[in-house]
Amino acid sequence: MKKIVIIGAGYGGLRALEHLAKNPAFSITLIDKNPYHYMQTEAYGYIAGRFDISDIAIDLASFVDGFSDNVTFIKEKALHIDKEKNLLILETQELHFDYAIVAVGAQTNFFSFIKGAKEHTHGVKNIQRAFEFRQAFEKRLYLKLEDKKLNRDGDLHIAIAGAGLSGVEIAAEMAYTLKRYHKILSKESIELKISLIDAATNILPGMDNYIIKKTEKRLHDLGVKIYTNAFIHEISSRRITYKDGTSLAFDFIIYTAGIKASLFVENLACAKNRQEQIIPDAFLRLQQAKNIYVIGDCAEIKDATGALLPPTAQIAEKSAAYVAKSITRCECHETCLPFDAKVDGVFVALGGEYAVGLLKGLKVEGYIAYMLKKLLTRFYRLGLEIKVNVGYKKRD
Ligand SMILES: Cc1cc2nc3c(=O)[nH]c(=O)nc-3n(C[C@H](O)[C@H](O)[C@H](O)COP(=O)(O)OP(=O)(O)OC[C@H]3O[C@@H](n4cnc5c(N)ncnc54)[C@H](O)[C@@H]3O)c2cc1C
Repeated sequence: MKKIVIIGAGYGGLRALEHLAKNPAFSITLIDKNPYHYMQTEAYGYIAGRFDISDIAIDLASFVDGFSDNVTFIKEKALHIDKEKNLLILETQELHFDYAIVAVGAQTNFFSFIKGAKEHTHGVKNIQRAFEFRQAFEKRLYLKLEDKKLNRDGDLHIAIAGAGLSGVEIAAEMAYTLKRYHKILSKESIELKISLIDAATNILPGMDNYIIKKTEKRLHDLGVKIYTNAFIHEISSRRITYKDGTSLAFDFIIYTAGIKASLFVENLACAKNRQEQIIPDAFLRLQQAKNIYVIGDCAEIKDATGALLPPTAQIAEKSAAYVAKSITRCECHETCLPFDAKVDGVFVALGGEYAVGLLKGLKVEGYIAYMLKKLLTRFYRLGLEIKVNVGYKKRD
């Protein structure tokens, strides 16, 4: 039996497992430092209090139990790969492999040129942080209900640093929630403000103009203040200072300004880009070790023309499906074509039952876009839940 280790049970890792597990000639070990799969794409709704923890997390042990005996899960932190010996080093054990798939995702990139960013803000790339934000957000809503003054102006001010997909979705969902709360509070109650800040010339850098314009309008309607071309110089416990010396006070800050590859990649000697993402060969393999594949956010992934693909769940899954197929072909001594993929579409959730999106070139907005996005998430989750249910039954 060929031994395959999958490091990271995110969107990429789980998709690779699903494909490879069908082959009884493979013995697959899935490794994650957490006992759950975190559905980051739903984090916006969890932070704003619309979704529960069960909407964003899946128990990995139960999920893996839903497969045949050729699949095992180890909840442990992976530390290093010994490329020469084909060994994966975990905290308490070492695993020999024939093939490894590195799918460790990304972490928040607290840029060193923003003083205080790491000390005074938190990202949303893990459940603990999302949970803390949710609690802090709820507490502030409660204080508002009690009409307690939160800062000098008597306003509650939430700042979101970074207007990419995650920043925009969180801003919109929070603004929507606040608007609902605001309606039921007294006229004298303090104001609620959300500021979305980005150094780029527009929000959602790199996205289609249609999406950008529709999103700007929705955010405006929800009362979100957008600050673009805004270069943050320093963040203290309650204040953002810009490079031009002006500043903005906040009660609560979320940092979504950038990502870089997860820490595991740091110990891997290989070509990397400025976000510390691994630069693989055209077949998504490490350039120096052809049996080690890299997928998802921890890698710099390009299409066949050499154009960069965005670090999204969609691309993580596509790269995973490709790598699983490549390993199977490799075992059958069949040749593989270089990786190629394109973005099928993008949906941006913009508070309540409203979204905007592009699906294979088709423009959609409002409730229809929201339903389409919901449907995609539902299908994804259903696939995981089926395995989890089988896993639970096996344990009974
Ligand atoms: C708020 C938010 C909204 C988003 N919205 C969308 C969206 O609408 N559409 C979309 O396509 N994308 C969206 N994304 C991006 C998407 O979530 C990521 O692109 C996707 O999660 C990448 O998948 P991945 O498998 O590469 O990594 P991840 O899903 O991050 O998984 C990596 C896994 O590796 C594990 N791991 C890391 N280091 C180690 C280690 N040393 N040892 C063991 N395990 C380790 C982690 O615990 C994690 O389970 C959003 C992201 C955020 C934060």
